[in-house]
Amino acid sequence: MADPALRLPDNVSGNFFVDSTCIDCDACRQIAPRVFHDSGDQSAVHHQPENPAELLSAQKALLTCPTASIGSVEKSDMKIALAAYPERIEDDVFLCGFASESSFGAISYFIERADGNILIDSPRFSGPLVRNIAARGGARQMLLTHQDDVADHAKFHERFGCERVMHRGDIRTQTAAIEIQPAANDPVALSDDLLMIPTPGHTRGHAVYLYRNRFLFTGDHLAWSESRGHLYAFRDACWYSWTEQIRSMERLLDYSFELVLPGHGRPARLPAHEMRRSLERCISWMKEKD
Ligand code: SF4
Repeated sequence: MADPALRLPDNVSGNFFVDSTCIDCDACRQIAPRVFHDSGDQSAVHHQPENPAELLSAQKALLTCPTASIGSVEKSDMKIALAAYPERIEDDVFLCGFASESSFGAISYFIERADGNILIDSPRFSGPLVRNIAARGGARQMLLTHQDDVADHAKFHERFGCERVMHRGDIRTQTAAIEIQPAANDPVALSDDLLMIPTPGHTRGHAVYLYRNRFLFTGDHLAWSESRGHLYAFRDACWYSWTEQIRSMERLLDYSFELVLPGHGRPARLPAHEMRRSLERCISWMKEKD
């Protein structure tokens, strides 16, 4: 639980607060932008919830915070927030909430399918989320974008028996038992409407997953930049090869998609032709940074 003694001075006075253990993962600012804001290299409460919708968003941020850095002085009924995740984004695609510190608060996703549900990257193995996923039929597969966002993959595998997928280039000792480890850099059809596309760059074995030619789950390869107004990549967090990452980005021009759903950074929703234009701007920008 967040510690009132560590309450950051940038918080406005009132019930909700962020303490000094915040790792600046951005999750709370995405979930409850009316309540939390960027306060330099951490988050703080800039507006206390004033209505039920704002209270619920603040509670969901509290549950999602990977470091338990968000607290509230008064106890409130959390029942609705605890039932909120997985939370529908669109159609059969959901947000998991409950981020893990070991993946630096990366956002993970859930697809509800008749032939078995799918997790994309690993959320925190937290009781309320695990129960909600179980109530939706569990998880048949877990698709991992790269080595940094594997979090509690082993616990989910143990609980639901989900088959895990990750590119061999990112396999480490703690992920050696992952069931499916494609080694080449060719796309892999996991089903008729789901494609694994290797995107080396951020890490050697990074991959993105294209679902129904609409949703692109991008891990740490690609996200939206609000300040630049186009898609972008993390130049300062490229651990393997920026040149390779540019090539991987160019290969994505072969595909059509309308939602970019990243692990870190902001999501994007654009018509396919505008998404393509934004991807081209991203590639030009990346080449300037090379
Ligand atoms: S979710 Fe938690 S760790 Fe992440 S920015 Fe907010 S307070 Fe900080």
